[in-house]
Amino acid sequence: KARKRFGQNFLHDDYIIDQIVGAIAPSDDYTMVEIGPGLGALTGPVCDRLQKLNVVELDRDLAARLATNPFLQDKLTIHQADAMKFDFASLLEPGKKLKVFGNLPYNISTQLMFHLFEFAPVIADMHFMLQKEVVKRLSAGPGSKAYGRLSVMAQYYCEVVPVLEVGPEAFKPAPKVDSAVVKLLPYEQPPFPAERIDCLSRVTADAFGQRRKTIRNSLQHLFRPEQLTELGLDPALRPENLSVAQYVALANALAQQKE
Ligand code: SAM
Repeated sequence: KARKRFGQNFLHDDYIIDQIVGAIAPSDDYTMVEIGPGLGALTGPVCDRLQKLNVVELDRDLAARLATNPFLQDKLTIHQADAMKFDFASLLEPGKKLKVFGNLPYNISTQLMFHLFEFAPVIADMHFMLQKEVVKRLSAGPGSKAYGRLSVMAQYYCEVVPVLEVGPEAFKPAPKVDSAVVKLLPYEQPPFPAERIDCLSRVTADAFGQRRKTIRNSLQHLFRPEQLTELGLDPALRPENLSVAQYVALANALAQQKE
């Protein structure tokens, strides 16, 4: 029986599964990692194309089932662990980058994204099934309603490419929301490098924490209005009007102040 607290909605639509596996393009040239393999809907077809796959599964019973699956057990390295605390860099093999994928538990997907961004430099690409709303937020540009802290942080690290929309009927049990698959391609070098990630994290949290306020107000404990103007930012702007590059400029100004 599916466990709600672990966000378990198992994929059972073979057409969708094929599309996702095609997008992932599994290859032993990478260290492959699946998050939340569950009953193995993606794990099986991905393993058909690989010698070796790491899986991170929190549910002890599901991890044990995978460990005794005669078709998979020789290829899988099973990590019965919480993906939100998992050290993905520990899986790296010499000369390889990580390819990470999964049909993620929706209740933790945003937090999990933030954790994964920390490993961006060692990740070649990521493919995730998420709530459609979250994919919208990941890919939203300035000026749109969905544009927020998740958009800025994701687009700081990665090129974000929506791949496929998936209805509830592709899962058992069917979730209450629509889903979508997204591809995240970490940049070799972020196009607008931040001197300190904690500063980028801080300015985006403070700005979007009070979405309806102008940046003059929401950032007043970090910057005087003249400083905003010097950075080319009108203090009357609202957080959804600033680009990723402008958030990085704010973060770098904050980093200078802290020196
Ligand atoms: N991949 C399977 C599929 O597509 O049918 C299962 C997807 S289900 C939406 C999410 C999976 O993530 C479940 O197997 C669940 O037990 C697992 N999970 C939940 N929280 C987790 C966590 N913190 N770390 C790792 N796995 C987790």
